Amino acid sequence: MLLLDGKKLADELKAEIKTEVDAITQTGKRAPHLAAILVGNDGGSLTYVGHKVKACEQVGFKSTLLHFDDTVTEEFLLSEVKKLNEDAGVDGFIVQLPLPKHINADKIIMTIDPLKDVDGFHPVNVGKVALGMSAYISATPLGITKILERYNIATEGKHCVVIGRSNIVGRPMSILMSGQSKTGNATVTVCHSKTKNLKEITLQADIIIAALGKPEFLTGDMVKEGAVIIDVGTTRVADATAKNGWRLKGDAKYDEVSKKCSAITPVPGGVGPMTVVSLLLNTLKAAKNEVL
Ligand code: NAP
Repeated sequence: MLLLDGKKLADELKAEIKTEVDAITQTGKRAPHLAAILVGNDGGSLTYVGHKVKACEQVGFKSTLLHFDDTVTEEFLLSEVKKLNEDAGVDGFIVQLPLPKHINADKIIMTIDPLKDVDGFHPVNVGKVALGMSAYISATPLGITKILERYNIATEGKHCVVIGRSNIVGRPMSILMSGQSKTGNATVTVCHSKTKNLKEITLQADIIIAALGKPEFLTGDMVKEGAVIIDVGTTRVADATAKNGWRLKGDAKYDEVSKKCSAITPVPGGVGPMTVVSLLLNTLKAAKNEVL
């Protein structure tokens, strides 16, 4: 069984990005610059943004964190987004979700300049990805395609079952897997909470992408011998023996599934680190004006 080590791959990709950044700065140009807007003090969001800022430092990017109180108005946030759109010194930026309920997240995302939308959430980028055009692919799906690419996982003609249809993972992943690319050309089935006989479907899968957020949902008896498992799920499960009092659990029951599959991403250390590095890859793309 092959462990698809996202942490190791992310470190390799960061080293490659750093080499590119050094080459850019040696020509006298400024380093790529990622900005992040964070509203409020949600623990998860603070952690995620912290990882992103740290990753920027590791590869030599400039990063700016705009941290606002959760009482800010939608109008204020829209004006901050517009300022970043116009700031020629910023290559790309993200607005960390979720936002407080009084702010319309769709409206904020729609206001981001698609050319600076390195999270790939703007409908222009989502649409361009669906059409197979040059665009920012959102970070988690991009990270998964990098895992498939770097570990030479064959996808062409394979049956890929995606569990979950969210806008940030399941839906874009299903589009990418069926697209005409090196990590695509698969026959894709998308499953969700209304899917009937899920086990019958997963048993036919050569590749399973589990993105439903239900810890240990995918058990050994749901997996065909030799299948490839991409476990996107990250749920904090209470564990008194853990340092923080919780442990991250994936959507696959690792002990059972790892005995049957040919390759699997662990949780933690699989898709998670690749999500952060994908944001860096998109920012580098932005700095090099590679998305038109
Ligand atoms: P989400 O928005 O809650 O979507 C979950 C999807 O799973 C929905 O489409 C839902 O179906 C489906 N689902 C729920 N229960 C199901 C069941 N019993 N059978 C089949 N499908 C079911 O979640 P998300 O944002 O996509 O995230 C999914 C997981 O990935 C979470 O654990 C999240 O923390 C994790 N995640 C990890 C990363 C990373 O970097 N590692 C990044 C993003 C997300 P309906 O549409 O019918 O409701």
